[in-house]
Amino acid sequence: MTETLTTKVLIIGAGTGGYVAGIRCGQLGLDTVLVDGGDGLGGTCLNVGCIPSKAIIHAAHKFETVAKAADGGTMGITASKPAIDLKQTVEWKDGIVRKLNAGVAGLLKKAKVKVINGWATFSDAKTCTVKTGDGDIVISAEHVILATGSEPVELPFLPFGGDVISSTEALSLDKVPGKLVVVGGGYIGLELGIAFRKLGAEVAIVEMAGRLLPLYDKALTDPVGKWLEAHGVELHLGAKAGSFEKGQLNVTTKDGQAVKLKADKVLVTVGRKPRTKGWGLENMGVAMAGPFVKIDDRCATSMRNVWAVGDLTGEPMLAHKGSAQGEIVAEIIAGHDKRFDPVSIAAVCFTEPEIVSAGLGPLDVEGRDDVIQAVFPLMALGRALAIEAGSDGGFVRVLASKTDHRLLGVQAVGQHVSELSNSFAQMLEMGALLEDVAGTIHVHPTMGEAFHEASLRALGHAIHI
Ligand SMILES: Cc1cc2nc3c(=O)[nH]c(=O)nc-3n(C[C@H](O)[C@H](O)[C@H](O)COP(=O)(O)OP(=O)(O)OC[C@H]3O[C@@H](n4cnc5c(N)ncnc54)[C@H](O)[C@@H]3O)c2cc1C
Repeated sequence: MTETLTTKVLIIGAGTGGYVAGIRCGQLGLDTVLVDGGDGLGGTCLNVGCIPSKAIIHAAHKFETVAKAADGGTMGITASKPAIDLKQTVEWKDGIVRKLNAGVAGLLKKAKVKVINGWATFSDAKTCTVKTGDGDIVISAEHVILATGSEPVELPFLPFGGDVISSTEALSLDKVPGKLVVVGGGYIGLELGIAFRKLGAEVAIVEMAGRLLPLYDKALTDPVGKWLEAHGVELHLGAKAGSFEKGQLNVTTKDGQAVKLKADKVLVTVGRKPRTKGWGLENMGVAMAGPFVKIDDRCATSMRNVWAVGDLTGEPMLAHKGSAQGEIVAEIIAGHDKRFDPVSIAAVCFTEPEIVSAGLGPLDVEGRDDVIQAVFPLMALGRALAIEAGSDGGFVRVLASKTDHRLLGVQAVGQHVSELSNSFAQMLEMGALLEDVAGTIHVHPTMGEAFHEASLRALGHAIHI
């Protein structure tokens, strides 16, 4: 029998966009139903994205630290050669995911959000049928929030299956591959490629662009390139991957040569695309912006009271963007006057070393003579030296307006700099001037002092350089 249900707010997708919207709707007293047909509450980020990848990256870092101690040692610390049982590592990672799944479920329950596990298909903009284990439920709603997220892009000549894997399978392998070829040198491919290199795999990266992480300027990505080189990662830049046959990936190099790369696993990370197919979006009459659902600065689609958040709505496809949109949409539905208009959405690559970018970078201000740029190298920072983060070419860089000193952008590369990202974003969001950062007493010894010093340097009076 088909059940029917009406609700004030219907949310499709329990990723970081959808579940945060759900919690906020509940807090605001809106009658809310949240539908998800995926792996678990938390969507891509929690189940197969941000959290599991950072857990594996952490395990890889730990393994590498012990491996270094076994290989002659550092700081007078030696150890015997480490071993890894990746099945156990993955089980540990899955435990973290389960804990967080349960946490999200608890928060939604507390907010009195009704959660339905099943796949939703829309017949019109405000009505969908959800296929659940216990039969179909037809739901109609006054407001619909679309948060269906994204999925990995598949290459037609290199389809997923067998030893050709996406990031999802890479995060649940039962052993470290002897040889791993990563196709696509964006942040997901690099984060995972570096982690597997630390775990002992031989890694090659095939990237069609002439350089890694092409969205970031070269100064920011150079330290990552140096790490890859120093750790024997084979780089094929400007190269095109082809099919995978008999354990070998066909690659056409920059100068047109056909080479074969041996691989136990081929990890394809050539990007993600919004999930717009297979759930009746075409029946909803919402306008599109290229492959994404078109939204305005309230996250409203072209259809009245249909809202969209997260990866479905465009770049940057980042978890924190979706959550911020989710909160705002809930508040708008509850009658608040809100806009999604951030000064910056900071992005982090959890590579080795890490990269942070917030606001405008040098590529955005090329040719402008009204911008001051200043860099503070981590090799001049006591804290960085004390935690072995001062010798890989890391730095913090600030960009500010020459006329009024308003901060326009902050970037950093170096170990542990991901933890500085929120301080960069806060200063930008508050419209801080260089004098505000310079006038804030930064704790010593911390990595954050590099932000302080870069701002002082932009003002012409850095202390430690
Ligand atoms: C390996 C990896 C690492 C990443 N690392 C980071 C990181 O460090 N930081 C960061 O900010 N971002 C990271 N991301 C990106 C981040 O995961 C996404 O930006 C984020 O998950 C998007 O959230 P979302 O709510 O838009 O959608 P998703 O998280 O994709 O969730 C959408 C949910 O909707 C469900 N769904 C879709 N259609 C339907 C339907 N018709 N019926 C029912 N359910 C449906 C799906 O099953 C899914 O559960 C990473 C991604 C990957 C793959």
